[in-house]
Amino acid sequence: MKKYRSSIILFLVFEAIAVWLWLSTGNLFFLLNFSYIGICIGLGGVLFAVGWKYAREFTQFSVGSYLLVFLGLICRENMQIEGLWYYLLCGIWGAGTIHYAIAKFFGPLLFGRGWCGFACWTAMILDLLPYKQTKASRKKWGFIRYIMFGLSLAVVLLLFALDKANTHTMFLLFVAGNIVYYAVGILLAILLKDNRAFCKYICPITIFLKPMSYYSLLRIKCNEDKCINCGKCLKVCPMDVDVNKNSRSRKNATECILCQKCTKVCPTKALTI
Ligand code: SF4
Ligand code: SF4
Ligand code: SF4
Repeated sequence: MKKYRSSIILFLVFEAIAVWLWLSTGNLFFLLNFSYIGICIGLGGVLFAVGWKYAREFTQFSVGSYLLVFLGLICRENMQIEGLWYYLLCGIWGAGTIHYAIAKFFGPLLFGRGWCGFACWTAMILDLLPYKQTKASRKKWGFIRYIMFGLSLAVVLLLFALDKANTHTMFLLFVAGNIVYYAVGILLAILLKDNRAFCKYICPITIFLKPMSYYSLLRIKCNEDKCINCGKCLKVCPMDVDVNKNSRSRKNATECILCQKCTKVCPTKALTI
């Protein structure tokens, strides 16, 4: 049962959130929504534990496409960062704020950047590109994410100033924002030969995710006594984490998306989650 422990815990956490939000708001949607996400994550974890090659992709697509297509395009909820600003400025505890609170503020204290590895609908597409192992050296472009963060807030503030901030405009912004994110993400991946270049340099959400995931309970641990410095883990890591060190301050530590590619290739089982 030990290998299923994380999956069971994550499923129970999402189920608890589902029941809590359902009972506190009286809205059945929350029960169905978070139960579905919890089942996808739990099932994906079990499939991973039994060694199915596409377990992570299964979770990524079942959660990511649900959020993008059903909640975003059909229910017309802006689940991007602009949606968060909109809800906050309206003082609404709605889908956008709840999504951010769970996936991007408090959740990372438990599951780090699991969102980025298993649920994000932007990365779900970027991960299909052929540049799975980083070839390019790391650029000093991380400042772009702060510009994007400021721009996202500025756009929503402008909509309020123009009296155009409403659910319809936010839906159009969601569609436009995703088209821009996919276009920039794919272009950057091709230019840098790195599927996750968008995540490393552009994505504004990392401003929340990085500091919170530093304290994550779930993390890749390295038993340095077992490590023979073969470098295999460093080669497969899509996020350039110095994972063969155990410190929380290892290089790019807060970029880890918990994909576990490193644990699979380690010949001495020095890496565990
Ligand atoms: S860094 Fe941003 S784009 Fe990349 S997976 Fe995380 S949330 Fe998605
Ligand atoms: S390969 Fe390992 S260190 Fe790199 S992102 Fe995946 S889980 Fe994290
Ligand atoms: S793959 Fe394992 S043994 Fe090799 S460097 Fe990484 S942690 Fe050390």
